[in-house]
Amino acid sequence: MSTWSQAGPRTVSEHAAAVAALLPPTGTESVALAAASGRVLAEDLTAGVALPPFDNSAMDGYAVRAAELAGASEDAPAEFPVAADVPAGRTDVPVLAPGTVARIMTGAPVPEGADAIVPVEQTDGGVERVRIREAPRPGAFVRRAGEDAASGAVVLRAGTVLAAPQIGLAAAVGRAELPVRRRPHVLVLSTGSELVAPGGTLEPGQIYESNGTMLAVAVREAGATAEQLSFVPDDVERFRAVLAERVGEGVDLVLTSGGVSAGAYEVVKDAMTGHGVEFGKVAMQPGGPQGCGRLELGGSRVATVTLPGNPVSSQVSFEVFVRPALRAAAGHPAPARPVVTARLAGSLSSPAGRRQFRRGLLDAAAGTVSEVGSTGSHLIAALARADCLIDLPADATAVADGDPVAVWLLDSP
Ligand code: AMP
Ligand code: MG
Repeated sequence: MSTWSQAGPRTVSEHAAAVAALLPPTGTESVALAAASGRVLAEDLTAGVALPPFDNSAMDGYAVRAAELAGASEDAPAEFPVAADVPAGRTDVPVLAPGTVARIMTGAPVPEGADAIVPVEQTDGGVERVRIREAPRPGAFVRRAGEDAASGAVVLRAGTVLAAPQIGLAAAVGRAELPVRRRPHVLVLSTGSELVAPGGTLEPGQIYESNGTMLAVAVREAGATAEQLSFVPDDVERFRAVLAERVGEGVDLVLTSGGVSAGAYEVVKDAMTGHGVEFGKVAMQPGGPQGCGRLELGGSRVATVTLPGNPVSSQVSFEVFVRPALRAAAGHPAPARPVVTARLAGSLSSPAGRRQFRRGLLDAAAGTVSEVGSTGSHLIAALARADCLIDLPADATAVADGDPVAVWLLDSP
């Protein structure tokens, strides 16, 4: 076990690496297509059928032998008997006899012997006999078997994030289920004797509990599953009891908020120090006090990350440390938020030696970003108005109006 406190504060990257190391890659499970949205494909997907599976018509019209229509034109239409009618879904399509055509609909199999489709608009639409006013080139409006994907070809690579088009493709090649990476399961537990569940009545000195719900939602938005345990007062026995009751098989991470700083009633710190979790400072703001490790509980160990209690600290720490680690564990190809550079509107000062994540609003059209609220880590209303984090490096002390800054986009995956 490293000696965090003696070694001084960790950098953001060092703590991010320590958190990420707690979450190994998840395994694979099979899910129905409709449930696969947002999941990460665990194995290459090969096409069980060619796409399209058979030569078919791209138009409503007539299947013809192009050579038989060589002279047809507006002024000199060619006339043919209609030998067959081929709607989409017909499975017993007869061979096209020379000197005849077949009426055919979009998606219907092209009869053997036919090599082009004439759209109905170029004909008189006849049912028994048809007059055709153009000479099609061979292959016209025929969608070739396998032109989109060959049977047996890899159509999606392992690691692909599944959205509507990818799930549509899986259905098109006949898959009812897909192998996807399992989502990490996270227990969320808030601490604080001042907390009251939303909907209840506040006594003087009490506040509504907000971190638990916020973090549980953030966990789900990160593609993991969350279970919000009932928050506990600053009481080490209660805290350990609530955890012990639930920790076990199927839990990938315990995520707590509050009780990790330098005060007198730091329940999380008191309950976990000496039991596999290390506490210390990260050179960042908000979110200085942090902890993580493998908590020893009831003879087993569970990956644990302890976030500070101030709501902005909690949520920003989640963004910086937990979200990327959860996504990486689930095999996500791009675990981090997209980062863009914008020009700062206004000027900011920042403490030396601490990386700061200010809450911002991006004006993408103007290429500028402005701060929302101020540095206070209790300002949850300002956090809720922000759409990005302004990432100021540890060595920055003054950022001038118009200076380029790195911006984490919170409303993009
Ligand atoms: P702590 O980290 O426990 O010292 O808490 C720091 C600040 O965050 C205090 O003002 C707490 O009241 C507040 N706080 C802690 N936990 C929560 C929570 N779950 N919901 C809302 N505020 C909280
Ligand atoms: Mg507290």
